[in-house]
Amino acid sequence: MKKHTYRFETKAIHEGIKDKGWEGATLPPIFQSAAHYHDTADSLSQTFAGQSQDHIYMRLSNPTNKFLEEKLASLESGKAAVVTSSGMAAINNACMTLLRAGDEFVASSSLFMSTYGLFTNIYKKYNIQVKLADPLNPGQIEEAINERTRFVYIETITNPGMEIADIRQIADIAHKNGIPLLVDNTLASPWLCRPIELGADIIMHSTTKYFSGHGAALGGVVVDAGNFDWETERFKDFAPFVAQKGELAFLHRMWKEYHVNFGTTPAPFHSFLIAIGLNTLGVRMERHMENALKTATFLREHPKVSWVNFPGFEDHPSHAMAKKQFGSKGFGTMLTFGLKDQEACFKLIDKLSMILNLANLGDCKTLIIHPYSSQYVSFPEELKNRLADPCLLRFSVGIEHIDDICTDLEQALG
Ligand SMILES: *Cc1c(COP(=O)(O)O)cnc(C)c1O
Repeated sequence: MKKHTYRFETKAIHEGIKDKGWEGATLPPIFQSAAHYHDTADSLSQTFAGQSQDHIYMRLSNPTNKFLEEKLASLESGKAAVVTSSGMAAINNACMTLLRAGDEFVASSSLFMSTYGLFTNIYKKYNIQVKLADPLNPGQIEEAINERTRFVYIETITNPGMEIADIRQIADIAHKNGIPLLVDNTLASPWLCRPIELGADIIMHSTTKYFSGHGAALGGVVVDAGNFDWETERFKDFAPFVAQKGELAFLHRMWKEYHVNFGTTPAPFHSFLIAIGLNTLGVRMERHMENALKTATFLREHPKVSWVNFPGFEDHPSHAMAKKQFGSKGFGTMLTFGLKDQEACFKLIDKLSMILNLANLGDCKTLIIHPYSSQYVSFPEELKNRLADPCLLRFSVGIEHIDDICTDLEQALG
């Protein structure tokens, strides 16, 4: 039968299913087995030596996880992927693969809170230095690169800043300097933006968010575009991996050195749940985008709301970049808004009846959080004030009926 090139929404549902021949199953079976037997000693030996794709032990690979890896690589326009137990495991694995003691990297100064802590606190212990640069100022990123820099790291949409960097321009700067661009694409999802098509080299996700969509599983993924040239003086430590896996040298090294040794494998049940989530990713994202724009407009018009930060507004600093990179699809599903003070924020959260006070995002349910007193509560005072405003609320707009979202906000603000 003729193979079709399906569009994103169709691929998210159908790709991979018929090829597997799981006795006609339309969802990946959960291969709940810690290890896989081999008929002969020679077969197991060959698999350990990397001569066959067979499975050995769950920490190394698993058929349910592999199904999700192939699907996510395709949806991100990459060549291959490794799924992990969480988004943070994906981020740490990808970065550690590139970093050695004494190395540097350049990262966006606006980062997901745990990523910020990992980069600025934990890596310091290994004599690895992160240089932070404004993601909206590519010149600052270029200035921070030197001969010890191993990569540039950005997020497609920053949280809670809602800034959207020019991925193509930053990829060009990284490549001109002989280093790869790593992008955390969690807040956009490949439905909204595929950074590899704009020149990025390595993509990471917290699959806990939009991919799962239901707040039912924790997971992460690293996707390799397979386009970066590792055969340079700067990356001569990659030579053995290039010799073994060619264009997939990075992903192979990450799998072999970090994923396997740090034990960042997801339970196949989580991969199964995330695979189910992919079936509805397209329609969920459409509804998320529509609801986000309507909620942002409702909040902006409300007299008790001081300001709303949402890239969908024409006067937002990242509006033009959102349109350039996301086309007419939307502006993400996250927004932040300000009230008079922290007390007003707490009061609003306590009065909401449907909207949940929750640390997750990208869920089908509408979620609110006061970052200053929650995610950032144990950060040093000066840093906390720089990263989170006490008057700020973060909002992840869900896919409920828009009138119920606005009615709940209206009664709580009143
Ligand atoms: C949630 C999140 C992460 C971390 O993912 P976990 O699955 O919670 O480990 C990383 N980056 C961004 C942008 C996120 O929103």
